[in-house]
Amino acid sequence: PDPTRAESKTVKTTCPYCGVGCGVLATLTDTPTGPQVTVKGDPDHPANKGRLCSKGSALAETLSLDGRLLHPTISGAQASWESALSQVASRFKQTIEAHGPDSVAFYVSGQLLTEDYYVANKLMKGFIGSANIDTNSRLCMASSVAGHKRAFGTDTVPGQYEDLEQADLIVLVGSNLAWCHPVLYQRIAAAKSARPAMKIINIDPRRTASSDLADLHLALTPGSDVALFNHLLTTIHEMGAVDSAFVAQHVDGFDAALSAASSGEVQATGLSANELAEFTRAWIGTEKVVTIYSQGVNQSTSGSDKVNAILNCHLATGRIGRPGMGPFSVTGQPNAMGGREVGGLANMMACHLDLENAGHRATVRDFWQAPTLPEAAGLKAVDMFRAVGDGRIKALWVMCTNPVVSMPEADRVKAAIANCDFVVVSDMYGDTDTAKLADIVLPATGWGEKTGTVTNSERCISRQRPFLPAPGTARHDWDVLAEVGRRMGWQAEFAYESPAEILREYATLSGLAAQHGKDFDISALSDLTEVEYDALPPQHWPLTKERRGGRFFADGRFFTPSGRANMLPLHHRAPAKPADATHPFILNTGRIRDQWHTMSRSGLAPRLNQHMAEPYLEIHPTDATTLGLQAADLAEVSSAHGRAILRVLLSDKVKPGAVFAPMHWTSQLSSAGRIDAVVAAEVDPVSGQPESKATPVAITKLPAR
Ligand code: SF4
Repeated sequence: PDPTRAESKTVKTTCPYCGVGCGVLATLTDTPTGPQVTVKGDPDHPANKGRLCSKGSALAETLSLDGRLLHPTISGAQASWESALSQVASRFKQTIEAHGPDSVAFYVSGQLLTEDYYVANKLMKGFIGSANIDTNSRLCMASSVAGHKRAFGTDTVPGQYEDLEQADLIVLVGSNLAWCHPVLYQRIAAAKSARPAMKIINIDPRRTASSDLADLHLALTPGSDVALFNHLLTTIHEMGAVDSAFVAQHVDGFDAALSAASSGEVQATGLSANELAEFTRAWIGTEKVVTIYSQGVNQSTSGSDKVNAILNCHLATGRIGRPGMGPFSVTGQPNAMGGREVGGLANMMACHLDLENAGHRATVRDFWQAPTLPEAAGLKAVDMFRAVGDGRIKALWVMCTNPVVSMPEADRVKAAIANCDFVVVSDMYGDTDTAKLADIVLPATGWGEKTGTVTNSERCISRQRPFLPAPGTARHDWDVLAEVGRRMGWQAEFAYESPAEILREYATLSGLAAQHGKDFDISALSDLTEVEYDALPPQHWPLTKERRGGRFFADGRFFTPSGRANMLPLHHRAPAKPADATHPFILNTGRIRDQWHTMSRSGLAPRLNQHMAEPYLEIHPTDATTLGLQAADLAEVSSAHGRAILRVLLSDKVKPGAVFAPMHWTSQLSSAGRIDAVVAAEVDPVSGQPESKATPVAITKLPAR
C-alpha cells in the first residue's frame, strides 16, 4: 500500500451516553501522522436517523489515552492480571465462606453492555447466591420500573419514538429533554415545525431549555405530580372522558383510583385555576397524547406513585398501545434498559422474572445449573452503601461507575468505601474518586474498544462495535467477570469465549421466561452465529419467530395474572424533608447539556467544557439579594449531610426558595463541587430510588479570595 495514502474504515456503533441510544458511524483513518477518528450520526439508525447532539458529535475528542489505566493495580502498585484476579477471586471466596453470601456485593452501571451485565448478575445471583447486585440505574429509573410492574405486571415500555412524531400533544413531566435527551427533543421540534398544531406542555418546577418549545409551562410545586395527575383523573371522569369500554374489558382498580384521586389535594401543586384548566382541557381534548417523564418524576420519595398517577390517566382513557399515544419513561443511561432486562437490580431476575416467585426461580436455577438462588431482594443502592459502612458488606466490586461522586450523601459513601475490608473497582481510569479508595483496580475497555449490545428507551437493541484496540492490558468486563467466576470454582458455567455466546444463552433464557407470561422475549437471537451477531442491525424487542418489535398492549392484554392492567389508589405525599429555618432552600440537582455523569469521558472534549466551565448554583435574584450574593460570587451550599462550594448563577428560571446545581463535578475537577455530598439519601419506599431533587439546604456567601 501507498504509505502516503490514508486508509480508513467505518464502523456502525451506538453512542455511549444517554438512553436515546443514537446510532454512530465512527470512521478510523490511518494517516501518516497516526490514526484519526471522526464520528457522525448513522442515518439508518431508527433512534436518531443521522442526528447527533453536542455530546455525541464530540465523541471523537474523548478517545485520548491520557489518564487511561493500562495495568491492574494492587494497593496502588502496578500488578499482573494473574495476581489481581487471583486476589479478587480468593478474597470474595474467603469472605463468603466466613460471613455468608450476603457479606459481598456488586455495584454496577447502566453503562455496562448487556453481556457484561448478564454475567455479573449470573455470578452474583446464581452462583455466589446473594441478590446484592445493584446499579447506578437505581438512581435513574427504578421508580418507573416499579410503576410499570404495579400497573402492567412487567417492566414494559409501551411505546416507541415514532409515537412522539405522531402525537398531537406531548406532555413533558420532570424531563428536561432538550438537554438530557437532545435527539428526542430535536425529533419533537422537527415534528412541531412541520405540524404547528401539535402542542407541547412542560411540567417542571424550573423553567428549562425544554420550555422554549412549550405552549404551556406549569411550574408546579416540587413533588406535587401525584396531586396534579389525580386532578387530571378526576377531571377526566367529570368531563365524561373515561373510555368505559376499555376500562371494563382491560383495567382493574378504576373506582378505588378515582376515589383516592377525588380527595382534593390539587392545591398542593401551587398552580392557578387557569393553569390547571388549560392543562386538563388540552390533555382530555387530545386523543393522541404522549406523556414523557424522567428524573423529576423518578427521583422522588413518591416516584413510583408519580409514575402510577400518570399511568392511571392513560389507562382510564385507553390511550395506550396505539400510535401517537401512551406514557413514555425515557431512560437516562445508554443501557439502563438492558440492565433492567438482565435483572441487574437487587430486586429483579434475568428476563423480567421475579425473585420472589418459586416457579421463576426454578426456571433460572435449572437453566443456569445454579447451586442456589436468593429468594428475596438484595440491598438496593442506598442500603447497600449503608451496609458497606456498617460492616455488613465486607467485599465490594464497583464496575463502570463512580459512587463517591454520584451517590446521595456522597461523603458517607466515601467513608464507607474507604473503611470496607476489600474493594475492587473496574474502570477505564484509575484516578476516579472511587478508584482511589480501592484495594484493586482493574483496567476496563471503553467505548470504541468494547463489543456487545445495549437497549435504549424504546426497547431497541443496538450493537456497540469496536474500532480501536484495547489500550495496555485493559480487558472487557464480561471477560473479567467470567474469569473470576471460573477461579471461584464454576468452570463450565462461566466458560464464555465471546459476547455472542453470552447473548445466545441470554436469548434462550428469555424464551423460557416468556413461558411464564413475561414480555421480554428475544429468543429469535438464541442461535445467532458470530457473523450474524457482528452484523446485528438495531431491532426492537420482542424478537421471536412470530414477532419483531412493535407496540405493547395494542390488544389490551397486560402481563398480570388476569391479563388486566391495574390502576392504583394514590395520594399526594410531599418530599421527605421540608425546608425549615436552618435549611430554608430546596435543592434540585440534574444534568447539563454538554456533560455526562461524572465527566470522565465528556470532560475530555474541550468544546463540551465551554458550555459550563465550573459547577454552579442557579438561584433566583430575589433570594440572592437577600443573601448578599451577586452573580459569580462563591456560595457554600450545605445540608445535614455535607457541603459544596459553587459559583452563583442568577436566574429567574428557578422559583424563589428553590435552587439548582448540576451533578457532574468530581473532587479532581472541583475541590468542593461534589453536590451529591449535600443531597439527602431519602428513598422511595417502593422503588428505593433516592430523592435527588428536594434536599433542604442552607446557602451562605463565601468571602472573595
Ligand atoms: Fe448520544 Fe443521547 Fe446525544 Fe444521542 S441524544 S447523541 S445517545 S447523548
